[in-house]
Parts: sequence; C-alpha cells; structure tokens
Amino acid sequence: MAKQEIQKVDSEVMNRMNRRVILQLIRQNHTISRAELVKLTGLAAPTVSRIVDRIVNEEKLAKYCGVGHSNGGRPPVIVEFNASGKYVLGIDLGATMIRGVLADLDAEIVMEIQMPTGKEEGYEVVIDNLVSLVERLLSKRGLDTGHVIGLGVGVAGLLDKKKEIVDLSPDFGWQNVNFKNDLEARLSIPLFLENSTRLMALGEKGYGQGRDLENFIVVNVGYGIAAGIVVEGQLIDGGRGYSGEFGHMTIDPNSKIVCDCGRTGCLEALASGRSIGHLAQVGLTKSSLLNQLCGGKVEKIDAKMVFDACRKNDDFAKKTCLNAMRSLSVGIGNLIQLLDPTHVFVGGGVSLNGDLFWRALTNEIEKQKMLPNRQVQILPAGFKEYASVIGSVALVLDAVLGLKLR
Ligand SMILES: [Zn+2]
Repeated sequence: MAKQEIQKVDSEVMNRMNRRVILQLIRQNHTISRAELVKLTGLAAPTVSRIVDRIVNEEKLAKYCGVGHSNGGRPPVIVEFNASGKYVLGIDLGATMIRGVLADLDAEIVMEIQMPTGKEEGYEVVIDNLVSLVERLLSKRGLDTGHVIGLGVGVAGLLDKKKEIVDLSPDFGWQNVNFKNDLEARLSIPLFLENSTRLMALGEKGYGQGRDLENFIVVNVGYGIAAGIVVEGQLIDGGRGYSGEFGHMTIDPNSKIVCDCGRTGCLEALASGRSIGHLAQVGLTKSSLLNQLCGGKVEKIDAKMVFDACRKNDDFAKKTCLNAMRSLSVGIGNLIQLLDPTHVFVGGGVSLNGDLFWRALTNEIEKQKMLPNRQVQILPAGFKEYASVIGSVALVLDAVLGLKLR
C-alpha cells in the first residue's frame, strides 16, 4: 500500500474511533456540552464539532438543545442523546427457523417475527427470506430503513475474521459464501455478522449474567455444540475467527461414531441434540418405551423424545442421556481446566430439558474437578431461545454506539 493510502486508512480508522467515543459520552451523559466533549476526549474543538454535527444532522442520534450557562466566554452548545424513533434489527438465522426482532436502543424487543429458513430451497431463497422478514418487521411499525441504525445477524458456522464471508457452515451446507455482501446489496442497512454462539456470549455480556464478569463461557448445546468464550473481558475470536468450535473437540479417540465434520469421537457426535436422537435410533432396545413414543417410526426419535422417556424412567433412554451428559461434562471440564472461567452458562435446545439435564450434567462435572474447592458456577444461560437474537442486537449497539462489549 502506498504511504498516502495508509494515511487515508489510518485517518478513517481514527475518525471512526473518535466518533464512537463521542457518541458513547453523549449516550452515557444523556446531555453534555460540546466544550465538555473537547475536554473529556482531548480532541481539537473543530474535530469534535465536525463529528457532533454528523451525529446530529446525518445520523440523527442526538440533537442540539440550546446553550448552557456561560462564565464569561461563549455559551456552551448542549447536545442531547436522542434515541427516540431509532431501532436495531436482530436476526438469529437458524437451520429450520429465522427469528427476527426489532428492538429499541435499550435492547428492548418491540416486535418479533419467525419464519421458516427455507435452506433446502437454496442459498438465494434464504437471502430472499431474510430480506422479506426485515421488510415485514419495519412495515408493521410503519418504519423504513432510515429508522434503523444496523442489522445484526447470527449464523451457525465458521465466519472469516472480517465477519463478511461464511467460510463453512455444515448446518446450511454453505462454503465460502459472501453473505454480508449478498444481504447488504438487498438492504440499505449497515450489517453486522457474527457466529450465533458467540452472540449468545455477547448477549450475556451486554444484558445478561455476564455483565460484571471478566471470564466466562457460554456453551450452546443444541442441534450442534459450540462455545462463546470471554477471557479477561474480551470475546475471543481466534487467529482466523474460528474460536469456540468446542463441538469438534475430540472426547473419545476410540469412538467409532462419525461426526458431521467427518472425524470420529467429536463431542458433537456424542452429546448434541442431533446425536442423542441418532444414538437412540441406532441402539434402540426392544423393551424401551421409545418404541411406543415414536409410534413405530424409529427415524422420528429425537433428543426431546429421549428426555421424555427418561422422565418416564425408561432405562435405555436414561443410559443414552447419561452417556451424552458424561461426554459433555468431560468437554466442559476440559474447558474449565484450560481457561479458568468463574462461570459457565449452558444454553441451547437440549439444555431446556429442565432438572433432568442439569442433574446429570452437574453430577458429572463435579467428578471432573481437580480441586474439590474450586468454585466454578455452572448455570443456565439467559434469554432461552432469544439468546442469539439478543446478542445480535448487542452486536449492533456495540458497533454503532460503542457499548464497549469487545
Ligand atoms: Zn466433528
């Protein structure tokens, strides 16, 4: 890159950072004078004026509200944060359903729509569905894209470090798709993309149980398994942006069970919702209650049915669940030894199986502790099925308003 180009990039980055700091100060203080902004940021007065003008006139995130009291010099110009009429869109792009929400700038959900993802109809149809969902969310409130400061989207899979390309998503059968570009080309809204489990961690950090925590892990046990890791206050991205693929950690090298990634012995192949259903199908005993629960259609057995059979004291179902929880607890135990979190929040569809899930998991994790007095709290993740979508709202608020989440 030529020297001039480097300088240009540097000044753009500086501008963005300065804008974020100024907007954050306006938001925190609600009303603040331009002179105070100059004092607090250490920036030159013309720079502050230019940025505040942009925030007020172009972005309409604040307004001028007169002048303050003067001690002799020119009276200070007061700026007020103005969140009214501004919204954030958040989307959790699931393999079967898309959940979309419209939220205010305090992350309160004001509107929600769910619709089928339509992934079997192809990538273009998924993009069409996302666009139509956004349009419906806005039109139901009589809004247009000018009222929206950004759209956050959570996707299961490996995203590139710049959060533009889905390098690989086995759930969708996507490889190397330029998701951000393809969606942005259809919507004139700033778009922010992130892995859906990392968004669960971001949601906890912004609005949930992780607000005052520096070291915690969110484990998502659903159709697959993944983790969002916060170390010393930072959500960990990894060298290429692939951190947290906890489901593909080898738990049993002797296992013959093949994972979706093609290898054997992965945690996901032993303990995910998909594998609990699959393992019950292939190992089903004649005496198990599952034969009745599935109405003779063995291929219909899923994780929920297995947990239902456990509740009815079915030995085979209990053994299947216990084996899965044992694998999961070995995995979580390894994470605890490696990263020393104070809290592990477990969420995702499988975790919603109540006491049964928690009793089995916490009993097994207890056995993994090297130090008996080690205090690691294992708790249910917050927001239940809204966890990723709250995270996607937090992602936008962080990027645009500077919540200091990452
Ligand atoms: Zn795997």
